[in-house]
Amino acid sequence: MSSTAVRVEDLQKIYHLKGETVYALRGVSFVVPEGDYVAIMGPSGSGKSTLLNMLGCLDRPSAGSLFLGDDDVARMTDDQLSYIRASRIGFVFQAYNLIQQLTVVENIEVPLYYQGRLTAADRARCRELASLVGLADRLGHRPTQLSGGQQQRVAIARSLVNNPNYILADEPTGNLDTRTAEEILTLFERLNAEEGKTIIMVTHEDEVSVHAKRIIRLRDGLIQTDVLNTERALFAMPAS
Ligand code: ADP
Repeated sequence: MSSTAVRVEDLQKIYHLKGETVYALRGVSFVVPEGDYVAIMGPSGSGKSTLLNMLGCLDRPSAGSLFLGDDDVARMTDDQLSYIRASRIGFVFQAYNLIQQLTVVENIEVPLYYQGRLTAADRARCRELASLVGLADRLGHRPTQLSGGQQQRVAIARSLVNNPNYILADEPTGNLDTRTAEEILTLFERLNAEEGKTIIMVTHEDEVSVHAKRIIRLRDGLIQTDVLNTERALFAMPAS
């Protein structure tokens, strides 16, 4: 039986800016079962980043509820939210946000370092994560010695360090050429299929969203469509 990774009910976000009220999310509801791979699409200003910020516990909704597993994160304190962010969610951004002075393996270790724990077993696990993303032979390299795709692999390995339930990715291939983007998307597919990670990814590119199992399209702060990605299903069908 698959359980629920995320449940969003009538989620609303209203910003007040210089006397003006902006309805960034006007009542969004959906459920993401564990193991799903969702692309969130929509034109600029449709609410994608706002939704991703809520899902990542980086901001709070104005109304509605947001459950991660059984936890209603809309009602949590700041400390509880930071704990959830650190322990249950892996973030991958368009910019890789690596520390230039640190090596590949040290960059992967950063979240553990901030939590004040870095045992020999943790170090070994970080090396394993580097292998998982195809960088076993680059452990001592620094970001400037890596290609963009390799740097994004480091960022993905870093996002996995606390063994999160799900990965939130914001335009993760936005800085990459087409071939490298495909390699990164294949890595996400593997993490979804083989490691069981639930993936929620914001993108504005059809070539990227085609890799997801499901596509949610936002428009003006509402869900316009929420459909299974039939193109991907066709790819996966055995040739007759
Ligand atoms: P997208 O990521 O799809 O481009 P956003 O979620 O960034 O859309 O924005 C949705 C709407 O909310 C837009 O109208 C945007 O101007 C507004 N908005 C986003 N963040 C803020 C903020 N911090 N203050 C005021 N308005 C905001």
